[in-house]
Amino acid sequence: MSDRPFLPYARQSVDDEDVEAVVRVLRGDFLTTGPAVAAFERDLAAAVGSEWAVAVTSGTAALHAACFAAGVGPGDEVVVPAVTFVATANCARYLGADPVFADVDPDTGLVRPESAAERVTSRTRAIVAVHLGGASADVPALSTVAARAGASLIEDAAHALGGRRGETPVGACADGSQTAIFSFHPVKQITTGEGGAVTGHGTARERQVRLFRDHGIERDGARFTGPAPGPWYYEQQALGHNLRLTDIQAALGSSQLKKLDRFVAARRRLASAYDVRLRGLADVRPAVPPAARTGCAYHLYQVLVDFAEYGRSRAEVVAGLRARGIGTQVHYIPVPMQPYYRGRGWVPEAFPGALRFYERTLSLPLFPAMHEGDVDRVVDALRAVLHGRA
Ligand SMILES: *Cc1c(COP(=O)(O)O)cnc(C)c1O
Repeated sequence: MSDRPFLPYARQSVDDEDVEAVVRVLRGDFLTTGPAVAAFERDLAAAVGSEWAVAVTSGTAALHAACFAAGVGPGDEVVVPAVTFVATANCARYLGADPVFADVDPDTGLVRPESAAERVTSRTRAIVAVHLGGASADVPALSTVAARAGASLIEDAAHALGGRRGETPVGACADGSQTAIFSFHPVKQITTGEGGAVTGHGTARERQVRLFRDHGIERDGARFTGPAPGPWYYEQQALGHNLRLTDIQAALGSSQLKKLDRFVAARRRLASAYDVRLRGLADVRPAVPPAARTGCAYHLYQVLVDFAEYGRSRAEVVAGLRARGIGTQVHYIPVPMQPYYRGRGWVPEAFPGALRFYERTLSLPLFPAMHEGDVDRVVDALRAVLHGRA
């Protein structure tokens, strides 16, 4: 057993400035639907270079709202990667549509645009690109596939706040996508406890997302279906939900955003320390290829391990690291393997790229407060465990 502090695979960074920002809201007049939400939306849009941002209760809610704004409805199909968090697929189901899984590159876990193209049918309403680990999917290629299908391209950027594709920040939606979604769960680049947002361009989509966040209620008289009988009047024009983020959370979000560049720089520095130290380990390599490293937002530090070459199972390695006080995770079990989706007729064997990625992937600890000494500790422990030392 280790006498050193447990090193989780991810952890939030919250400081006194964040705490004070939250307390200021608690002492003020608006706990929800107030100025802190509007400010957070402006701050986020400025950070990613988008025309607008709408804050919601979670990344899952953001996916739900983005699909609604894309017009996804009963009988439609939404193409999603086989390797992602289940929420990416579930957002189609919430609207009565079906996710259609596309296979991923076995070495990066990113969706293969050719596979997405093969899954397109006349019922495809949207394609969701997932920036796994913080490395961007091929949005320009996927946008060509989406445009040809007459479908929207949504970026699930829950892992990629602070990332770039060339010079384009992820979330700007400037190179082919219509909307992007973010999550502010504590393991992500910035946190609001729970929280999420949709970013994008085009006022029609923004209006749809705002409508969906607030029960489908329209309060702008210019958009009423008829004359307003008085100032109290509002119209419910669609079926939405209450997906509103509180001002308490939004204040935390704005305070966290000020540190985003620093957080992402720390993640990149630690990732490159891992890259260098892992060169000494045969049959272990980083999932992010060299060319993608500068723009990667490094939500995760994923390695691909040929466990068979070492004669160790992944479960043994995970347990061995845990005994040394090191947390790991696996991102992700391919979604078609989940009992819910198997029950809907999906067969995991149809996704060889996803299965090959899944059997080798392991996420090592990565968060801004880590030191390079922690990276040494993880790599030393991984070496010892892979070589079968107790
Ligand atoms: C975290 C995450 C989500 C969902 O975000 P929540 O805020 O937890 O609802 C969606 N997609 C991906 C890829 C994620 O990692």
